[in-house]
Amino acid sequence: MKHLTEYRSVELVEQYVAELHRTATRPWTLMEVCGGQTHSLVKNGLLNLLPPSITMVHGPGCPVCVTPLNLIDKAVYLAEERGVMLCSFGDMIRVPGSQKSLLDAKAAGADVRILYSPLEAVRLARENPHRDVVFFAVGFETTAPANALSVLQARQLGLKNYSILASHVLVPPAMEAVMQDADTNIQSFLAAGHVCAIMGLDEYLPLVRRYGLPIVVTGFEPVDLLQGILMAVRQLERGEARLENQYVRVVRPEGNPEARRIIGQVFETVDREWRGIGTIPGSGWAVRPELADFDADKKFAVTIAKAPECPDCIAGLVLKGIKKPHECSQFGRACTPERPLGAPMVSSEGACAAYYHFASVETQDVASLQISKL
Ligand code: SF4
Repeated sequence: MKHLTEYRSVELVEQYVAELHRTATRPWTLMEVCGGQTHSLVKNGLLNLLPPSITMVHGPGCPVCVTPLNLIDKAVYLAEERGVMLCSFGDMIRVPGSQKSLLDAKAAGADVRILYSPLEAVRLARENPHRDVVFFAVGFETTAPANALSVLQARQLGLKNYSILASHVLVPPAMEAVMQDADTNIQSFLAAGHVCAIMGLDEYLPLVRRYGLPIVVTGFEPVDLLQGILMAVRQLERGEARLENQYVRVVRPEGNPEARRIIGQVFETVDREWRGIGTIPGSGWAVRPELADFDADKKFAVTIAKAPECPDCIAGLVLKGIKKPHECSQFGRACTPERPLGAPMVSSEGACAAYYHFASVETQDVASLQISKL
């Protein structure tokens, strides 16, 4: 497949690994921001191929992982108590709320549906005029255009029974929050290529200047990731701090202006709470007040008391790259994908799930229960 198989080439992987071993002369710590990148690094065994002097830590770029407990509780409440048809992407329905997940609610009879696009939810609203249909609009900048489009389409169709429960989060403010943590030791970021395909490159320049660190916009295949790491390490070794784009086959400097125009019609920037991290200023998008009829939060005006997180889960430290998943005392013991204590063990993009399913040497000491699996 063009633009895919060549980025999985064993020969190219070996060449980049060899070049990294020649280039890295000192210890460097890099963070890949996106959970998709984390999964690719772990699943393809790339972490074990890197020079020992390079440490990759895993960032907060898993939207399911950072969706607040309170919002999951709200979605469960809408499905169970208000009788709405609650639609969501698949990953989200398994994430535990304070009492139960959407999957538990579905098993108990609530109308919870797994969809691949919010536009399917608009179709359901059209076909079921006497039911309220709510789409659980979770995600980074990448999923926002389709969610915004669903609101515009519902308005154009005159639908009164469609709304979204929005929890959009933004990458640059999260990177800023990571850098402001006193315990961070990150020297470079691999930024998420698909986010930049929408947003462009410019919003990363202030971070480069403020913190004097290299940021490399990077794709998701093994060759993409190794090339992105090499670009970052070359800068670090030379004492440079620049914004570079490894993912040139997808990301244009200006991003996708039409997608951003659609987003701007529907969403405004707000402070947003990140599960395990807390509130980050200006880090989210919420539905604009003039479109309140399509905002499930306002339409149903539900207030759910905040429940405490599981005290043993260190997801916040994992999401900020301060701890690795296997450094959690619950990893592979009380917390598994079948019985997750926190969101990073549920989502396919969560670092804990990636380590559980795919990691090898690095995790064996502390997760002896899982050695055969790992
Ligand atoms: S292993 Fe489980 S309990 Fe530990 S941080 Fe990850 S999700 Fe939380």
